[in-house]
Amino acid sequence: MTTRRLDKLVPAVEITEGAGVSVHRTIGTPALRSLDPFLMLDHFGSENPDDYIAGFPDHPHRGFVTFTYMLDGHMEHRDSMGNRGDLLAGGAQWMKAGSGVIHSEMPKQSAGRMRGFQLWINLPRAEKMSDPAYQEFSPEAVPEVAAEGVRVRLLAGRHAGRRGLIEDPNTDALYLDVTLAAGKGFAEDLPAEHAAFVYVFEGDASLGEAALPLHHLAVLTPGDRVEVAAGPQGARFILVAGRPLNEPFVQYGPFVMGTREEVDQAMIDYRAGRLVRTRAARLAT
Ligand code: FE
Repeated sequence: MTTRRLDKLVPAVEITEGAGVSVHRTIGTPALRSLDPFLMLDHFGSENPDDYIAGFPDHPHRGFVTFTYMLDGHMEHRDSMGNRGDLLAGGAQWMKAGSGVIHSEMPKQSAGRMRGFQLWINLPRAEKMSDPAYQEFSPEAVPEVAAEGVRVRLLAGRHAGRRGLIEDPNTDALYLDVTLAAGKGFAEDLPAEHAAFVYVFEGDASLGEAALPLHHLAVLTPGDRVEVAAGPQGARFILVAGRPLNEPFVQYGPFVMGTREEVDQAMIDYRAGRLVRTRAARLAT
């Protein structure tokens, strides 16, 4: 049994996205361009409507999956093919952009706290041009496992014999939201070769001897187990892991394809109004 250690701490970079939304990005910055199979992690969180009210008006995606997890607030998703859905506090949305989606993600609130994560997961080359699809999950749909001082919400993968919202056969992604009371510990077995990270967003926590500061992405070394301990304030963090695709890819903004030519084609298609080939199917949840 090899316990994973801290490989690298990546501080969040505050950037402006969409029409002027302030987000904290870790994966997808110069310090960590990607963490195969993960392409980007944005943490958004503000009590100030000025930081989020502009939202994310119509924008394209091709070649990967977006997985949005709302902690607080209410966002509305609309796409170019007429789908509409709500992202509510504690709920999630999984969207396979595949061959192309143009959508908007707009706040449905003008005050109060907006908080959550968006993770981009790469698709294997063979599936980059597959038909788009998405699933929405209400807060009540998220499986929870609770023990004294420990609460785990299962967004993807399996934990304690339970299935999360999503099972992704391409990466076998695990995505847990873990809340620990002061001094409590948490351990999870992981496939040794999967990429894995912890992102603490409340309280304080440590991984062995290493402190895990707030709003830093802690990339873990390979190993088949991860152990996180909460400090005196307790802690809340996401633990995410997935099997690397080990394929070359080229990213240009919202287009992530196998080659430069395929990225160029995505831009040509977008400008010509041909990015969206087929309606994104809303899958039953
Ligand atoms: Fe988007």
